[in-house]
Amino acid sequence: MTTPRTVLVTGGNRGIGFAIAQQFLADGHRVAVTARSGQGPEGALTVHAEMTDSASIDAAFTQIEQELGAVEVVVANAGITKDTLLMRMSDDDFTSVLDTNLGGAFRVVKRASKGMLKARFGRIVLISSVVGLYGGAGQANYASSKSGLVGFARSITRELGARGITANVVAPGFIETDMTAVLPEAQQAEYKKSIPAGRFGTTDDVARAVTWLASDDAAYISGAVIPVDGGLGMGH
Ligand code: NDP
Repeated sequence: MTTPRTVLVTGGNRGIGFAIAQQFLADGHRVAVTARSGQGPEGALTVHAEMTDSASIDAAFTQIEQELGAVEVVVANAGITKDTLLMRMSDDDFTSVLDTNLGGAFRVVKRASKGMLKARFGRIVLISSVVGLYGGAGQANYASSKSGLVGFARSITRELGARGITANVVAPGFIETDMTAVLPEAQQAEYKKSIPAGRFGTTDDVARAVTWLASDDAAYISGAVIPVDGGLGMGH
């Protein structure tokens, strides 16, 4: 049994974030999620936050601190895609994905680090993607944002590692969520052929890796990239 913590999962109203929040709750933690719409799982505190806006993130943290205590575990999960070929990618397609996926993680982690430094304890988990290291045609914006998280986690590890704070990256492959449901069926079948496990992952597959990285058992793991991709990205 791991020590109960105050946990924040961004984008916890659906998909992978919802499953991560559920798993933390099942393991006995105090859980808050951010959402722009809808709610997190039953038992979690849902707070409103926009990842591109530091003031909104600050207000969300203040509310969580008042209701659940200082955030000890932060999972930066909120993210978007705006896939299109490079020649057609507008400046806004590029910067909005970077600002949400990488900028959002930066804002959330920076705000969380205040309390973590004070407590001399923290667990930071950043949700990247196999595409961050593998690349993806039509995903120059998304892949850049996701590989940026690796440099970010490793810099935090060097900066804050001596203060009881770990920072790791989880890199999911294809996971059954709204994000992948929009892919044409033929494309889904094609992708499955290239996954050694022969299937897409479930949100629970990702959630278990995240809760383990946040647990007492993972105290000496930092700056790591943990793939949850059925072997798709092996060797990266
Ligand atoms: P979903 O599209 O199902 O959910 C995305 C979440 O991010 C929602 O909660 C959404 O909130 C939130 N979000 C998006 N933009 C913002 C913003 N500007 N401010 C605040 N919240 C925002 O995604 P998944 O569950 O599929 O993915 C979760 C994470 O996992 C993402 O970072 C994604 O890149 C990554 N990932 C997903 C994979 C997959 O196969 N599904 C594979 C690899 C990585 P709202 O509902 O309010 O819009």
